[in-house]
Amino acid sequence: PARPPQDFDVIVVGGGPAGSTVSAAVALHGHRVLLVEKETFPRYQIGESLLPSTVHGVCRILGVEEEMARAGFKPKRGGTFRWGRNRDPWQFSFALSPRLADPTSFAYQVERSRFDAILLDNARRVGVDVREGCRVTGVLADEERVRGVRWTGPDGEIREAGARYVVDASGNGSRIHPHVGGKRIYSDFFRNIAVFGYFAGGARLPAPNDGNIFCAAFDEGWIWYIPLRDDLTSVGAVVDRENADAVQGDPATAWRRLIDACPEIRDLLDGVPQATEAPYDQVRVRKDWSYWKSQLWRPGMALVGDAACFVDPVLSSGVHLATYGGLLAARSLNGCLAGTLDENRLFTEFEARYRHEYSLFHEFLVSFYDMHQDERSYFWKARKVTHIGTTELEAFVELVGGLASGDTSLTGAGPAGERLTAVADDFERAVRRLPDADDLRNPLYESTTFRQVFQEGTVLQERGLFGGPLEDEAPLRPGGLVASEDGLSWVEPQRHPGSS
Ligand code: FAD
Repeated sequence: PARPPQDFDVIVVGGGPAGSTVSAAVALHGHRVLLVEKETFPRYQIGESLLPSTVHGVCRILGVEEEMARAGFKPKRGGTFRWGRNRDPWQFSFALSPRLADPTSFAYQVERSRFDAILLDNARRVGVDVREGCRVTGVLADEERVRGVRWTGPDGEIREAGARYVVDASGNGSRIHPHVGGKRIYSDFFRNIAVFGYFAGGARLPAPNDGNIFCAAFDEGWIWYIPLRDDLTSVGAVVDRENADAVQGDPATAWRRLIDACPEIRDLLDGVPQATEAPYDQVRVRKDWSYWKSQLWRPGMALVGDAACFVDPVLSSGVHLATYGGLLAARSLNGCLAGTLDENRLFTEFEARYRHEYSLFHEFLVSFYDMHQDERSYFWKARKVTHIGTTELEAFVELVGGLASGDTSLTGAGPAGERLTAVADDFERAVRRLPDADDLRNPLYESTTFRQVFQEGTVLQERGLFGGPLEDEAPLRPGGLVASEDGLSWVEPQRHPGSS
């Protein structure tokens, strides 16, 4: 077949956080980018609790941090958890030291319809050709590489567009991800179901934690409580997939029943009516969210955001992984389009870094579930490290070439399951130290697991705040690349006098 003309340098499928990040970061280097989004924004999406790296790192690099600050989103200093051995709630703060004010140790709770629109409008502003109400239906490819997409416009007319690269950022419902690396690999450990809706208000935690996400474990799973506005709270229950029939049969009844079964959350909502404004007037369900892919790119195509992978809603990693993955892909695309380095090397860097970040969160979230003790509960008994199936563990170890947290004191010799138990124990010890903490240091940062999971985010925040990391970035692996000064491309690491 004739090759489609190269109308664009990059075509991005999907205008969520992953798609707007990658498209804007490529357009900022002067390339021609088409973004095709099937909905007309603003559109609803779940995933409202952000991490600081997105707000102060990615948003700053893309030029929307001030607009975010003006948008009036609820500032979030961290999380409050009724979770673990202790019956009392404990705080998880983004600040290294709760007493020393750090200007980047907060994030926001966002209405995704508004947050996603800010990012998409920004992409348009920096030169991306954004087409809303248009759906990508297929990929144009030959044996060598992917060369474009087939899409339908608002009028239903079928079109084709060619480009040097296609990025799939079309989320968990992606139809085109199998063009890279075959099927998704689903996790059994995180195979849960969520049912969620909104209340027109609700009590707030005492200041300064009133913007925190509150997560409360109960017999059947756990519930998130996210203050979006004074008159709007997002409440969602995550339970075992065994409940799928009841939850899907009557989501609203299941949602109410689960809230009633969790006293800490029920008490905050006493007498508060359910929200009636659209799109918050519905109770929704999501399942089968935890998966990864054995490959994240092939010549001419890359996967980012939920199209590539997602772990679990606990600890708000989804939008971070989506925007971070978008930035990593943009660095490789900008390098390829400028012809600075070889395509294989640039995308190998993208894939290695993205997998590394995904696997750090995967490990951390396993240890987070492992920490909760409730011997009577089927849900909590099943969410122990010891219940990770051998096949899943092997598939995962193969994916990342070992455990992600490379600290040998934790991950030394021994089977992967034992090493994962060590990671979980390390984190649990840090949480147990929380009640004795003074207000100068945050004991969670004494946990290797915790520190590592936020390390890359911290580098991104420094880049946003100071225009670059405080220390020269080290390559992730021998022969690897590091981010360029503007954070939008990959370069060879600098060799300093005296270094080998
Ligand atoms: P999306 O936001 O899904 O965007 C994909 C876009 O692609 C959509 O706009 C869609 O319309 C478009 N699209 C799809 N198909 C096509 C097509 N064929 N053609 C054109 N366009 C297309 N994350 C957090 O950070 N914090 C949280 O608190 C959180 N809570 C969560 C709770 C639950 C229950 C779940 C399941 C997830 C949660 N997440 C959370 C994860 C978060 O929702 C996702 O990780 C995030 O939305 C991924 O962004 P994305 O840009 O990859 O995809």
